Amino acid sequence: MTAKPFVRHGDQPRKRLFIGLLTLAGSVVLLVAFLLWWVPSVGLVHIHPILPLISAGILALLALFIVGGIGLLVLTLLTGRDLFFSERLRKLVIRYIFPGVIAFGRLLGVDRDTLRQSFIALNNQLVRARKLRVPAHKALILLPHCIQLFDCDLKITGDVNRCVRCGRCDIADLADLAWRRGIPIAVATGGTLARKIIVEHRPQFILAVACERDLTSGIRESYPLPVIGLLNQRPDGPCFNTRVVLDEVERVLDEHILPDP
Ligand code: SF4
Repeated sequence: MTAKPFVRHGDQPRKRLFIGLLTLAGSVVLLVAFLLWWVPSVGLVHIHPILPLISAGILALLALFIVGGIGLLVLTLLTGRDLFFSERLRKLVIRYIFPGVIAFGRLLGVDRDTLRQSFIALNNQLVRARKLRVPAHKALILLPHCIQLFDCDLKITGDVNRCVRCGRCDIADLADLAWRRGIPIAVATGGTLARKIIVEHRPQFILAVACERDLTSGIRESYPLPVIGLLNQRPDGPCFNTRVVLDEVERVLDEHILPDP
């Protein structure tokens, strides 16, 4: 299996796909709302002439809520600015709109991982729009176990500093980077351990590295914690000797971690 591309800062095509799907979904909502009003109103008018107006008002409010939310989200994504609603939008996207757009995209035949990459790019932008900066000890770097070299015998889950920095995998550089900056770092073998690590550290900001599936579920489950997701690289296929671009990690940390006083 070939390695998946890395989601980079400002990944425009991925973001555009999600914006396109949102716009299409908004149009479908308007069309459905119109049909829901028009079809019954033909019958309602025979009961009382005011009934079509009442049903039109209710449907218009509902459509305005959904399309307004989508519109604000698209604007946030296009401008990269915190539009005041950003946090609420993020909640709206993660809890409600994202599953709907994924299902809608799947109906249109869009690849599931492509949709997940769009979601990760979109989530990252919404987190960046908050211009959040936290002290180093309040952040957490969360890594997947597959970044460790497959035949390394050291057990680094629980304590990444057991790595002796032989340099055969990216754990060495990541552990050094975290140590230099004073940022907690942990390796999780799955969602359960990741949740346990988060509960123990109680971070205010997470930089998570993983594949599309794990990042997507991690971002959703961690809400409302702000998580920036970086996709790992998979030169040898999924879940095996995966890599991460260190410059990307450094850039995210520069952006969200306060410098030492
Ligand atoms: S860098 Fe650390 S984790 Fe990676 S192979 Fe070497 S000792 Fe093991």
